[in-house]
Amino acid sequence: MAAGTLLLSMVAGIAPAATNQTDDTAQLFARADTPLKMLDNTAYVGLIAQLERKSASLSETDKWHLRYLEAWQTAFVGQNDKARVLLEAIAKQAPTDDLRERARGTLINILGLGHRYEEAFAYLDQALDELPNITRNSTRQLVLGEAAQLLTEAGQYDLAINYADQLLQIPDASGYSCTGMRIRVGAEFHKGPHTDKLLSLLEHAVTTCLANSNTLSADTLRRDIAALKIEQDKSDEAIALLQNSYSGMMKLQYQDLASQYDVLLAEAYWKQGNLAQAEKYAVATVDIASKSEFAEPLSSAYQLLYQIARQKGDLRDALMYHEKFMSADNAHLDDVREKALAYQVVKQQVDAKKTELDTLNKQNQILQLQQALDRNAVQTSRLYIVLLLTLLASIGLWLYRLKRSQLRFMRMAREDGLTGIFNRQHFVDEAEQAMRSAAKATRCASLLLIDLDHFKAINDTHGHIVGDQVLRRTVAVCQRYLRSGDVFGRLGGEEFGILLPDCSAETAIERAEQIRRAIYSASADESQDIPISASLGIASSAHHGHDLRDLLAAADEALYRAKRDGRNRVVINISGYGATSAPTPKGGERNMAGRISDIAKDGEPFNYATEK
Ligand code: GH3
Ligand code: MG
Ligand code: MG
Repeated sequence: MAAGTLLLSMVAGIAPAATNQTDDTAQLFARADTPLKMLDNTAYVGLIAQLERKSASLSETDKWHLRYLEAWQTAFVGQNDKARVLLEAIAKQAPTDDLRERARGTLINILGLGHRYEEAFAYLDQALDELPNITRNSTRQLVLGEAAQLLTEAGQYDLAINYADQLLQIPDASGYSCTGMRIRVGAEFHKGPHTDKLLSLLEHAVTTCLANSNTLSADTLRRDIAALKIEQDKSDEAIALLQNSYSGMMKLQYQDLASQYDVLLAEAYWKQGNLAQAEKYAVATVDIASKSEFAEPLSSAYQLLYQIARQKGDLRDALMYHEKFMSADNAHLDDVREKALAYQVVKQQVDAKKTELDTLNKQNQILQLQQALDRNAVQTSRLYIVLLLTLLASIGLWLYRLKRSQLRFMRMAREDGLTGIFNRQHFVDEAEQAMRSAAKATRCASLLLIDLDHFKAINDTHGHIVGDQVLRRTVAVCQRYLRSGDVFGRLGGEEFGILLPDCSAETAIERAEQIRRAIYSASADESQDIPISASLGIASSAHHGHDLRDLLAAADEALYRAKRDGRNRVVINISGYGATSAPTPKGGERNMAGRISDIAKDGEPFNYATEK
């Protein structure tokens, strides 16, 4: 239900009654401005109806106030397009700073829900500019809460935490501290690291929210606690927590939260090896999430269904779910990138406007000086030239800065922030183009997938910072073996892809083996001496054709085999999906996905399992 997030962020405070009204009208407004609008929406609608009957006698300000209450209700029932038009008029024309600001706060929320991030950030920018003029506490809380939530979604966690802290400093008369805490720990949860301290903050926030009877926020926090427990391999505790609050949470009718509970349950059961329960909850997630636009749980659920089907040996289903996973994952990544870019674009526009104003100011000063200087003709001509040069220089500098930041944003959209290589989306774009050229020229191309072994253990033992260093080091090692034309990208946490556009399956095996050995020996070069290794899966167009998605699925299958057969090894997939396994020949290495290797080298069955 679209109103879900609106509700979540709008448990706003009780307004002080306006002073210039009859008690009756003032009381009606005061009651409408309480959390009543969520807790008992029918009563809220009744209050609006009462106020509408009095509308002829309402003051101008009260009429606008009533329009705001009506617009809020329109958003609450999910008519976001209609609500947006109403709220935009209020944000522009309402006679008080406070009403205009409240309209902006609600607009930010529904624009975010509608994925209109650039407009949401533009309103956020206005709302934050106005905030110093706002004295009503619950309006300040509303705007700061929206700011923290939108910035969290855009990955600006420190800023988000900063706004959430400001929110928590506002004296609280209406249970907003629960919402504030939820937003605050939510930002910390996304920022990481997921420490025990964060866990106790989350648990403390649950207690606060239950004391405020805000079960919705408490259930949202429990979701994060469960995710954290699953990461810590405490699936039993996660399942107990989620199952205990499951039926209460379902009654709240928040479809996005419901789909997040389902997908966490599916993950926890999967970790326990309970395929039947994992599948049940993953299917439930897909049911809910595919109806709305909850890209993240949908993508995780398809990934799980793919893994479950693979484990069950049902390769046809596995392929189907893999394709759905890839498209849901892309949709999710697009959404994440859109939010981050929208933030940067608005920030850039604001900066550009400030620079423009600066330039105008300078031009004014120059004109004034010029007039003064006109009195002294000799000096004028000399100074005039200098001033013109200064003006030109400042415009030049401004253009240069603008160009530079534009280039930076273009790079950000393509690059992985940690390692500087292509991110997943850009890798897929470039690799697809390379595959099209290879298909046209009937050249053989091969794809390598590289996944570090037991990387979670490195994080757990040495911390995330060292984990990040290991990722950068792995990238540097791989780069030593790249040739011009190769496409290299980070596909996910510790998984990388290399597309070799003019490369036979045999050469791909040799190159993969070189890379595997280099990664394995790189650990010895470093003073920290953390042993690392990687498993590699290969698929070649010779066996799977020139469609990148088929190659990705086949290489992933080979990678899975490499992991299953003991890690730190290279496996090529020379069979299509659905091929039947042949028995292992004597002395042969079971190193081909779905089939035994029949590539010969020096007269022996090809064996590229690893010498350690
Ligand atoms: P396997 O051998 O089966 O691949 O095991 P694994 O531990 O490598 O795989 P798993 O998928 O269980 O764990 C991957 C870990 O990578 C979990 C996640 O915390 C970590 N990770 C993902 N992205 C980053 C990152 O940017 N930095 C760091 N330090 N860790 C990351
Ligand atoms: Mg791994
Ligand atoms: Mg991995």
